Amino acid sequence: MTAPVTTRTSADLIRAEEPVLAHNYHPLPVVVARAEGTWVEDVEGRRYLDMLAGYSALNFGHRHPALIEAAHRQLNRLTLTSRAFHNDKLAEFAERLAELTGLDMVLPMNTGAEAVESGIKVARKWAYDVKGVPADQATIVVAAENFHGRTTTIVSFSTDETARAGFGPFTPGFRIVPYNDLAALEAAIDETTAAVLLEPIQGEAGVMIPDDGYLTGVRELTRRKGCLFIADEIQSGLGRTGRTLAVDHESVVPDVLLLGKALGGGIVPVSAVVARRDVLSVLRPGEHGSTFGGNPLAAAVGTAVVELLETGEFQHRASELGVVLRDGLTELVGKGVLGFRARGLWAGVDIDPAFGTGREIGERLLREGVLVKDTHGSTIRLAPPLTITADELTGALGALEKVLTRD
Ligand SMILES: *Cc1c(COP(=O)(O)O)cnc(C)c1O
Repeated sequence: MTAPVTTRTSADLIRAEEPVLAHNYHPLPVVVARAEGTWVEDVEGRRYLDMLAGYSALNFGHRHPALIEAAHRQLNRLTLTSRAFHNDKLAEFAERLAELTGLDMVLPMNTGAEAVESGIKVARKWAYDVKGVPADQATIVVAAENFHGRTTTIVSFSTDETARAGFGPFTPGFRIVPYNDLAALEAAIDETTAAVLLEPIQGEAGVMIPDDGYLTGVRELTRRKGCLFIADEIQSGLGRTGRTLAVDHESVVPDVLLLGKALGGGIVPVSAVVARRDVLSVLRPGEHGSTFGGNPLAAAVGTAVVELLETGEFQHRASELGVVLRDGLTELVGKGVLGFRARGLWAGVDIDPAFGTGREIGERLLREGVLVKDTHGSTIRLAPPLTITADELTGALGALEKVLTRD
């Protein structure tokens, strides 16, 4: 007989994982047992302010009442049909998501990586069927320091050696150019180019925000050269930056939009390729699919997410509180913070190595009751739920100030 989980301590549970769980993560030593809103609680009942929000999968906080209600209602009626049949939830989800993003058609998938893979397949098919690229010659231009997921094809065009080493052979057909460099992008595009695939703000790279005009330039360039612009907004989208999409800051509409993370409301994995009709209609029955993609539970939760975003409330909060975040971080520059990049409720903060590594700062913040995650070496990413209050945010910034002490 196994003891109920609640009788095991955090330390026991961490030890228990070690022999049975693949070591592909190095989590901070906290074992979360329940959560609500911006707060999580560990096995011993200690409370922590969540300043990571599941890498932006929890934009609406933990267990947002409207999302939980939508999920419960759907759990009690219908959860899965497969796409062999229609279900009564999918049309509304697609209609409202298309409406929210200003695009025409939706291809529902589950994880972010699947949305990226699907976007790549759609772009290649478009290149052969519409643009007239010779068979198997299509190329896709991507940016250095990108993060688009973990499949073999996606790591094929990663520039992060840790993500690649040992996983070859790699998928051909990708060209890598420096991010935020329109001249390099233009030089890489030729008659074989199906698409340019970019994050409008590079999340994993440390919240790297391109210069004003870059996204407008990418839009203009891809239109002029006759290739697609695919914006991966899996992390930057759905309210995080103070607008529905990060491309909205430059009023740019890509041909293909990739969404995930927050689209599932922190409840179920929901992702989507959203695109113009003339692009997404290159797919014919049997050419692409997913057993779980577009399932009624995902569609019900996804629709409830879109409903929350339709109010504009979360975008507004991210924008307003983004000022508090920016001001607070500005105060810390020179006091352990070397510099930072922020937009809305999203920041990449470079820690002065004299004050500790990103990991050490994360561990010290954990002891102060604040959860964050380091990205590269000495950069930490702040991405709280968009439901955070000004006081909570100020509290988190105070904790950061407190742990920024020289050893
Ligand atoms: C997280 C992320 C992905 C991958 O999403 P998964 O759901 O983990 O597969 C892809 N692109 C971007 C920009 C991401 O942040």
